[in-house]
Amino acid sequence: MSNRITSQIPPKGIRFAPSPTGTFHIGNLRTAVVSYYWSTHLSTPWVVRFDDIDRPRVLEKADEAQLRDLQSLGMKPAIIQYQSKFIHRHREIFQEALRTGQAYPCICSRKEVQADLGKFASAPQSSKPDPKSFVIDAPVYSGHCRNAPVSAEHAGAIAWRFRSPRSDLGHKDFVIGRTTNISDMESFQPSYHFASAVDDYDGGFVLLVRAWDLGPATFPQRDLMTWLQTRAQIRHGIPQVFHAALVTAEDGTRLEKRTQGVTLAEIQSQGKTLEAIRRKLEMSFNPVVGYEEGGKDWMGEARQTIRVSELGL
Ligand SMILES: [Zn+2]
Repeated sequence: MSNRITSQIPPKGIRFAPSPTGTFHIGNLRTAVVSYYWSTHLSTPWVVRFDDIDRPRVLEKADEAQLRDLQSLGMKPAIIQYQSKFIHRHREIFQEALRTGQAYPCICSRKEVQADLGKFASAPQSSKPDPKSFVIDAPVYSGHCRNAPVSAEHAGAIAWRFRSPRSDLGHKDFVIGRTTNISDMESFQPSYHFASAVDDYDGGFVLLVRAWDLGPATFPQRDLMTWLQTRAQIRHGIPQVFHAALVTAEDGTRLEKRTQGVTLAEIQSQGKTLEAIRRKLEMSFNPVVGYEEGGKDWMGEARQTIRVSELGL
């Protein structure tokens, strides 16, 4: 890349990236509190980016309601972004990945991928995955189509995978998006992990804060960002990632839209003030893992999950 003019921009900002698909639950708000803590602690702008490209799931005005919740807890973003504004950039990067052979078509069904990974997990040298722990470097793919090219005659929808430089077997080759068939590149729809990685890189952030359930996406996304660094005219550093504990229901399952009593309004209606809620959320977070500039690629709370009742609300 010696013929490219590159300049290094000092990273700044910490991004919190909610999906505007409904009302925040207390787990989303806790992650927001943790990311706000780091922005204050590091004196860098707090950026809220609404990840709104999953159109069928996006709810009208959910972004406004989420912003109101954040502000009622005293968190005001310095910058607000919408991922849908960057869709041209996702397409451009996809085209570049095709041109350079970094993306390849995959026709494996979700079921086949799961079955292959199951075999991988039960291999003698690896231990059984614990469903309650989010193994950060978990394999995402068997590499089947990387080694057996898909015919140009293939009919039907295609998933496109990013060729990870770190594995000959393709274990980290994650889906970056889909097209309706193998030749219609205009129909490209980016995947959540791909769009996030592109925007996280372009944003030049110093730190990304998200919950531990996204841990397995960290390394594949960093592979993509490392490749972006070699393509970009303006070169950013790759943001570090801080994983906050995932707040779960009492039985350890994820909080869902139908989970009762976990929105800000519901908790307030049980007689808690906004100040008390904010204080409890802050008290539940102990940044035992300190941030270190240029230090670890990823870090996080010692606990990967925390039950709602443990928040003391
Ligand atoms: Zn495949």
